[in-house]
Parts: sequence; structure tokens; C-alpha cells
Amino acid sequence: MSSLPNAPTPRPGILDIAAYVPGKEHAPGVAKVYKLSSNETPLGASPKALEAFRQAAGQLERYPDGQAIELRNAIAEVYALNPANLMCGNGSDELLGLLAHTYLAPGDEAVITEHGFLVYRIQIMAAGGVPVTVKERDCRVDVDAILAAVTEKTKLVFIANPGNPTGTFVPVEDVRRLQAGLPKHVLLVLDAAYAEYVRRNDYEAGIELVSSNQNVVMTRTFSKVYGLAALRVGWIYAPAAVIDALNRSRGPFNLNAPAIAAGAAAVRDQAFTAAAVDFNAEWVAKVSERLTALGLKVTPSVANFVLFHFPDVAGKRAEDADAFLTSRGFILRAVRGYGFPNSLRLSIGTEEANEGVLAALAEFLGKN
Ligand SMILES: *Cc1c(COP(=O)(O)O)cnc(C)c1O
Repeated sequence: MSSLPNAPTPRPGILDIAAYVPGKEHAPGVAKVYKLSSNETPLGASPKALEAFRQAAGQLERYPDGQAIELRNAIAEVYALNPANLMCGNGSDELLGLLAHTYLAPGDEAVITEHGFLVYRIQIMAAGGVPVTVKERDCRVDVDAILAAVTEKTKLVFIANPGNPTGTFVPVEDVRRLQAGLPKHVLLVLDAAYAEYVRRNDYEAGIELVSSNQNVVMTRTFSKVYGLAALRVGWIYAPAAVIDALNRSRGPFNLNAPAIAAGAAAVRDQAFTAAAVDFNAEWVAKVSERLTALGLKVTPSVANFVLFHFPDVAGKRAEDADAFLTSRGFILRAVRGYGFPNSLRLSIGTEEANEGVLAALAEFLGKN
């Protein structure tokens, strides 16, 4: 007995995980705060979604539908998919975790990329897997680097497309090449959290690839363009065998009833979504142009945020800018943990927020 620990002990690897640090929310002592650190929409959710949420409040004593049929049917209708190939999650974070826990045995490898979403690494490690990180090229996922990293132990590949925090995307031809180059037992996870925002002919979120292969899944979220981050709603489109495995692993009532109702109403309100996408496209272009005019290097974004890079000048580095902007009430995302020590990520906000942060940055750089 003497070799046993004297306290409950997590299994090996758990205490090596660096817990996720969400975007900051507060700017101490500042009257008006603009939170531009978590890629939330500045436009809120569809009024129809809010009404559905309020309606659901009348029956909180009842368990939700464990199959989330209303929501799966709404998604299936809008995206022309078979609801049998859809599962919903408590945010897409839950689905990413379920994929790791369902497909990785201890010691199995999962490939992620240098600037990839930190949730992948956390969930891989939590499942006892080994994250294998490959380089990106100029803030872009490098399909050849991923293929070169695949070994007999590889079970999963996670890519965000578009990427966060880069805002870049992998063209459909390259995603196809990635899938074609993977062994059949390796599951390719396409995290398309920002897909609705992309207006590029050479982009596809993954629906076609999932439909025509057994080893590709696509995850989506209601936290971004649909404005329901607080409710935690995500979905996955996957082959029947994957849906079956995930359904066995998940909690029986993983989505709450107000989330199911609001999500269904939100996805059906395509006019609201289209207006949000238009607003975003206009501001991503404007903000990118004006950051460039301030002498900052901007990574071209197809999403609802912009990653920009500071010059290597004392007093004018990302950390200094972050502190200055916070003192003015503008909270951006520091991205050191994503491999960008001298960059910040700015989520597109309201006109007032965008203009304000641009003016504050001009002041910081001495260019006003
Ligand atoms: C925001 C985001 C998500 C969404 O997570 P939810 O759990 O659905 O809120 C997923 N992946 C990436 C890359 C994101 O940036």
C-alpha cells in the first residue's frame, strides 16, 4: 500500500494540460468596454431565436429532447442534409472533445497545426492521446506537412477552416488532397466554426467531402454568426458510423431545451444571417485596410476577426498595444499562446467599436 498516492490522482497527462484561457472581458476602471476578444457577433441573435428562447422558459421542469430532433431537422432543412447524419453538442467544443475521447486510445496520435485552435490540444491530451503539431506556412495550414506527420499511431487530424486566430482558409482542392492522402482509418475533423462568413468560390466547409467519404466530419457552431454563444450549441455532420459512436459516448441530454428551440429558430432565419454576413464583410475589409494604412501587417481574413502584427519596436509591441487599448476600453485577444507573441486578434464589432479601436491604435502608434 505504501506506493499508492495519498490523495486522489488524475491519470498521467491530465496535469500537463494548460487549461484554456478565454478572451479577457474586463478593463478595470474604464466606463465603457468593448469586448472584441472572443469573435462574438456585434449584432446579437435573430429576434426569432430570442422569442423561441423565451417560449422555452415556460417548461423548464421538463427534460429536453435527448435527440434534439427539432434542431437537427431545422439544420437538415436549411443545409439540405440528412438529419440522421447530424448530432448536436453543447457548443462545438463538446463535439471536438467527444471526437477525441471516442477515437483516441492512450498513446494514439492526433495531428494539429502550429496556430490551430487550442481546444484540440486540450481534448487530445484529456483523452490520453498525443498531440503532434505541424508547422503552418505564412499563417496557413500546410496540407503536405500534415500528411508527412501521419504515422501508424495517427487516429485524428484536426484543422479549423477558416483558421482561428489566423482567419485564413484552406482551399477546397487542398482539403480534398488532404483527405485523399490520409489512410482510411484516420478521421479528418474539419472545424468550420466561421464557415458562414466565407465568401470565396474556392472554399467549402466540408459538406461534400463528408457526404462522399467515411473518414471526414465537419463541426459547426451557433456561437459566431448566429449569436448564441451563451447557449452553447454546435453540430456535427458525419458518416453514420461516426454519429453512432458519438451517440454512444455523449451525455443523454447534452443540449438544453432553450438552446434547441433558439438554435432551430436562428438557423431558419436566413435573412438575419445574410445581413450579419454582409455587415461583417464590409467591416473586415475596412478594418484590414485601415490597419494596413497604420503600418501594421494584416493577415488576410475570411472570418469575423482580423489577426495583425506589430513592428519589432520597443514600446510599440503587441503587449504594449494591448495594455493601451485595454486602458481605453477596447479588449482584444492576445495570441501569444497561439504562437504569435507580437500580434493581436481583433473581432469585428459594432461600427462604434471598430472606429474606436482604429482611432485608439492610431493614437498608440502616434499616427493620429
Ligand atoms: C469559436 C470557435 C468554435 C466554437 O466553439 P463553441 O463551443 O461552439 O462555442 C469552434 N472552433 C473554433 C476554431 C472557434 O474559433
